[in-house]
Amino acid sequence: RTDTTEPEDDPSSATRYDTTTGQNGTEKATLVMLVRNSELDGALSSIRMVEDRFNRRFHYPWTFLNDRPFTDDFIKYTSGLASGPVEYAVVPEDDWSVPDHVNKTVMAAEMVRMAEEEIIYGGSLSYRYVPNQAFPPPAPAAANDSGTLRHMCRFNSGFFYNQEVMRKYDWYWRVEPGIELYCDIDYDPFTFMRENKKIYGFVISMYEFKDTITTLWDRTRQFVAENSQFLHANNSLDFLVDGAQPSKPGDKHLGNGNYNLCHFWSNFEIASLEFYRSEAYSRYFEFLDSTGGFFYERWGDAPVHSIGVGLFAPKDSIHHFADFGYSHAPCSRCPQDDESHASGRCLCNRSKHFDSDSYSCLPRWWRVSGINKAPNELLKHT
Ligand code: GDP
Ligand code: MN
Repeated sequence: RTDTTEPEDDPSSATRYDTTTGQNGTEKATLVMLVRNSELDGALSSIRMVEDRFNRRFHYPWTFLNDRPFTDDFIKYTSGLASGPVEYAVVPEDDWSVPDHVNKTVMAAEMVRMAEEEIIYGGSLSYRYVPNQAFPPPAPAAANDSGTLRHMCRFNSGFFYNQEVMRKYDWYWRVEPGIELYCDIDYDPFTFMRENKKIYGFVISMYEFKDTITTLWDRTRQFVAENSQFLHANNSLDFLVDGAQPSKPGDKHLGNGNYNLCHFWSNFEIASLEFYRSEAYSRYFEFLDSTGGFFYERWGDAPVHSIGVGLFAPKDSIHHFADFGYSHAPCSRCPQDDESHASGRCLCNRSKHFDSDSYSCLPRWWRVSGINKAPNELLKHT
């Protein structure tokens, strides 16, 4: 570490964490957080953690997105922690509202039904819905409420990558409030992605709640039947559908099998923005959106991203960051190899670990991607 003493009368140095160490990131990449003003505490602890474990050496810019204007306090405290440039943007209303083609009466009725059936998060516009919590369910008017889960899931599925402030970037790392990082990341994961022709990186994989995506796979099948040119010859259909054959060049449909609900947990993503901007993914999103399923059901951005990347990108462009220790309630994972701990790189409980949990889809990923995982071995990032 080089010690540079900042002049004490420089006001900018007083609010900045030490940015004097290490290299600067060289990729067109940003750390991006969609976040509410009310989540300031969780945002701060996530930023602190990502800075300490990674960004204090790379100084990548942070991009904060919100459906409402950020408060002065939010801007003051978050920019005080960031070691790179910061940008704050309000999402345009069109990207955060119920489109005209969605029938709001049908949508409200479906939300009531999902609430009555206690489908997790299904019955409420609010993501903080807890099954058995008292309701009346929201009246149809509430369908226009802006602070809502369905808007967030739709935004993260089809809009974040085309926001004005995101257009200058090719890569993003999605960070949510309240996450934890348990290991030093001493290389540039964006460079790793680019050099190794990766498109999508994840840490945790699990099953989606079936009742929130009742027709998602049928709609996907329909899209692929009409647009089979987008289906990648080396796709990951065998990750998404049990018993599916690995697809061959020239396959033009998804077969009859059902989606097994496996998806990459999207609260952590390091991925290519260009992929989402591609014709294949954009057309897929537009088709899904035209069906109204984000509102009639409760399609999450995680299964939508996973199916998109699983069908339209090559399997070997999907990367599991096995060297990352990560937590987002209620799940966490921790590198299992001894070296990551003996070196001091990671601090986490190796037995509190989701990878091999019965709700984890990672064993399936290992199988279909041909990774033979030896016990306690770190799956190196190369
Ligand atoms: P969960 O992780 O599935 O429980 O969902 P979260 O509540 O964490 O929401 C996912 C991400 O979207 C987080 O980064 C939230 O801060 C953000 N988010 C969710 N709802 C809203 C909202 O209404 N407005 C804004 N600005 N951000 C939201
Ligand atoms: Mn979250």
